[in-house]
Amino acid sequence: MTNAVVVGSGPNGLAAAIRLARAGLAVTVFEASERPGGGTRSGELTVPGLLHDECAAFHPTGVASPFFASLGLERHGLRWLWPEIDLAHPLDDGRAGLAARDRGHTGRSLGVDARRWERLFANATRNFDVLIPELFRPIAHLPRHPVVLGRFGLHALQPATWTARRFRDDPARALFMGVAAHAFSRLNAPLSSSVGMMLTAAAHAVGWPVAEGGTESITRALLAELAALGGKVVNGTPITSLNQLRDLAGRPEIVILDTAPRGALRILGDALPGRVRRALGRYRYGPAAFKVDFAIEGDIPWTNEDCRRAGTLHLGGTAEEIARVEKATVRGEMARRPFVLLGQQYLVDPTRSQEAVNPIYAYAHVPHAYSGDATGAIIGQIERFAPGFRERIIATSTRNPAALETYNANYVGGDISAGANTARQIVFRPRLAPNPYALGIPGVYLCSSATPPGAGVHGMGGFHAAESALARLR
Ligand SMILES: Cc1cc2nc3c(=O)[nH]c(=O)nc-3n(C[C@H](O)[C@H](O)[C@H](O)COP(=O)(O)OP(=O)(O)OC[C@H]3O[C@@H](n4cnc5c(N)ncnc54)[C@H](O)[C@@H]3O)c2cc1C
Repeated sequence: MTNAVVVGSGPNGLAAAIRLARAGLAVTVFEASERPGGGTRSGELTVPGLLHDECAAFHPTGVASPFFASLGLERHGLRWLWPEIDLAHPLDDGRAGLAARDRGHTGRSLGVDARRWERLFANATRNFDVLIPELFRPIAHLPRHPVVLGRFGLHALQPATWTARRFRDDPARALFMGVAAHAFSRLNAPLSSSVGMMLTAAAHAVGWPVAEGGTESITRALLAELAALGGKVVNGTPITSLNQLRDLAGRPEIVILDTAPRGALRILGDALPGRVRRALGRYRYGPAAFKVDFAIEGDIPWTNEDCRRAGTLHLGGTAEEIARVEKATVRGEMARRPFVLLGQQYLVDPTRSQEAVNPIYAYAHVPHAYSGDATGAIIGQIERFAPGFRERIIATSTRNPAALETYNANYVGGDISAGANTARQIVFRPRLAPNPYALGIPGVYLCSSATPPGAGVHGMGGFHAAESALARLR
């Protein structure tokens, strides 16, 4: 039986392990942390009994992932739950842009821009199921649906600031810019519309669901599938060198790393060809997240009523403000009013709450390796659109960029995307190479979100890296 090793048990690592185990390989996953799952873990962060998502919370990419769909994870207890409104973007004047699978909500919230919005996203939304397999793979491939992909690409290539200017009024402009900001990048740069186009189309086509019982349910389902195929996971084992791997696992024929390029450099060191070592050394990391979880009494007193029914909220004001703040954040300046993403998963998943006490999820975009405290700025942004929030806080749990990196070595400097989304690194991630998963050592691959299709819980990096490994064996 061919021996394979995966380093790291994030969704990409587990997806790679499952794909290899399905092909009949003997697979062992080594995980640094005592708990598997990487960015897909949940826990009681504030008060006993209150369940918080420790990293990923909303799963448009999970529900859209062709590989996850092929696994039938529902058999292992995974259940998606959809909020009535997937996304709300409140403004200072009390209005809010809304994105939802029920496009009636969106249309009503966008007023004069409703038709323009509909036209912009019609192609991607209608053809989402054929578009996703094209987008969730390396960009350089022969497309099976060139027309759909080409039409999507025309918009995705543009700076997000240009796309936002297609709209006349603030709700639509801000709504789009808030989604584009998921890239943690300069929103006036080429290709900065791509993440916004994909995630907005996802909101309309498949929604932004949460996992019942917390994001950790995704990890549990992937682990159950791997175990059923005979794969093993060894926790509490940080891998630092190839020799250590050989001591632990004999001479594996396949090694797949669910690590940031920095982790791959540490493990593989001089075994890497010089050109690969240099390319991974040049790989750039982006701005960071500063995460705060709250336990609150009751609900958030949003000024805008629709926000009370939304799973995700983007708190950053107008499109112009978001573009300005994100640019400063990329430059290393901490904004007084940073872009904040807030989650109310408990609205559709009451199992996470304790009677009238509810878990609230929030993180701000802050500069790379920011060492200050952004808690006050996050509370300030929530108060801006929900005065009185502060009085409802019972407990908080914060993690700054350094704590995020300690929690998971892939979050270099607190960068939760495992690499900056510059135009270059959107197209060539992690380096310019015919096979972006290959590391130049026969049988050794990278599969983390530093590879295509980038960040998100979808397992597609793991799937494609495993396919590369299997193609080599064949
Ligand atoms: C605060 C936050 C919010 C997010 N929100 C969302 C969201 O709402 N939706 C979404 O889709 N995505 C979200 N993400 C991103 C998502 O979590 C990641 O893109 C995804 O988890 C990446 O999966 P991965 O398998 O590549 O790596 P990870 O999930 O990061 O897992 C990597 C694993 O490898 C282990 N590891 C690293 N180095 C070593 C080593 N040397 N030896 C052994 N083990 C090692 C780590 O401990 C970790 O368990 C969020 C992330 C964060 C931090």
